[in-house]
Amino acid sequence: MELRELGGTGLRVSAVGFGASPLGHVFGDVPRDAARAAVRRALDLGVNFFDTSPYYGGTISESVLGDCLRHAAVPRNQVVVATKCGRYKDEGFDFSAARVTRSIDESLARLGLDYVDILHAHDIEFTHLDQIVNETIPALRKIKESGKARFIGITGLPLSIYPYVLDRVPPGSVDVILSYCHFGINDTSLVDLLPYLKSKGVGVITASPLAMGLLTDNGPPDWHPAPEQLKLACRAAAEHCSKKGKSITKLAMQYSLMNNGISIVLVGMNSSKQVEENVAAALELSTSGIDEELLHEVEAILEPVKNVTWPSGIQQA
Ligand code: NAD
Repeated sequence: MELRELGGTGLRVSAVGFGASPLGHVFGDVPRDAARAAVRRALDLGVNFFDTSPYYGGTISESVLGDCLRHAAVPRNQVVVATKCGRYKDEGFDFSAARVTRSIDESLARLGLDYVDILHAHDIEFTHLDQIVNETIPALRKIKESGKARFIGITGLPLSIYPYVLDRVPPGSVDVILSYCHFGINDTSLVDLLPYLKSKGVGVITASPLAMGLLTDNGPPDWHPAPEQLKLACRAAAEHCSKKGKSITKLAMQYSLMNNGISIVLVGMNSSKQVEENVAAALELSTSGIDEELLHEVEAILEPVKNVTWPSGIQQA
């Protein structure tokens, strides 16, 4: 598995990252044996980056990921573990200094770890961004000084949140950003922001290369927020691939992995089979390249919905 530098953190991370939201049962139930096997298989195949949040499954994802890593008996310095704070299933959003400071202790207890490698403020568009700048990031910096998190990140859907925060905090305060659903076959809008993020020395993670299930044969879960036209177009693209005996998921993974300005393509996985398929897609990309003909056909199907997204967060003044 290819390792890439993550911004200025010094971390060398696998290009395919393991998104653990499915381990919180957000895409359907996952038996514990399947979760443990998926994490074990990922480690064996060279995946070293794992992402979770207290929000996923109402803390279940963190507890299950912690259990899976313990079960795999992997040395702590051979995995990079990221979690988040500020978004909770029962409480909603709370980015106050007091809440995020308590949050990291709760996360470490659930994960069974002494520290996480990255602590993100989770979906920051759901508060006033000035709170993130003036209260949350300073609190996260104190957590970093305490050693409970090695690096700090911010996540969210609207791309405008990143320059808003990064232009207002002291240089070096934010180490990493995690964007989702903005670098895949149907939506490439993150690309325009990459030169800016590089100039700030910030590491870039793109999550949801399968557009949270839109670019899979099974299709998205009921809660998927995409507008109907996007869902229909993605279904048509998946059916087109399937009719040709090809996989939309493989194509989508490979597409997201092609941009070296992005360090990690974070894909949600719930079984060894998915791990093997996604890692195989990455290996095949490095040896044989992407199926250009299929890509052009799928791009043509998705052209009418190119960069179509959905609203997220409170309106910013
Ligand atoms: P995704 O695009 O990675 O799709 C995940 C879905 O695709 C799941 O249903 C999974 O079972 C399925 N899948 C994975 N590999 C497959 C394969 N080979 N064949 C068929 N189906 C396959 O969406 P995601 O899980 O939402 O995003 C990835 C990760 O990124 C999350 O788990 C989470 O860790 C992170 N994330 C973070 C944020 C945020 O911070 N705001 C938002 C979205 C995602």
